[in-house]
Amino acid sequence: MKAGATGTCDVCGKPGIVHLTELRDGTKTTRSLCLEHAPPDMREKIPFGPHRSAAEEIAFLREKMEILDQRITDPAQRKEFKADIENLIADIEAGRRLGDPE
Ligand SMILES: [Zn+2]
Repeated sequence: MKAGATGTCDVCGKPGIVHLTELRDGTKTTRSLCLEHAPPDMREKIPFGPHRSAAEEIAFLREKMEILDQRITDPAQRKEFKADIENLIADIEAGRRLGDPE
């Protein structure tokens, strides 16, 4: 799982977590916002970040891992995904938070 694949926050330039596509005067514009500047109702839906505890983040990742387990049929690929998530969990347990810059 990647926290914000592209774009930086339109407000402060930090890595963007929330990406919104808006139609303005018939033109499509994409806005990227960090957790801090995301609208509160959107932020509430994000299962990781400073507003979540480490335990909540880990629970979310374990849930994700179970979903992947059921969806990915290639055992090698599944192993790779699970290893990635295990690494993230280890990072969180070590004090790093999802969405932190590397
Ligand atoms: Zn920001």
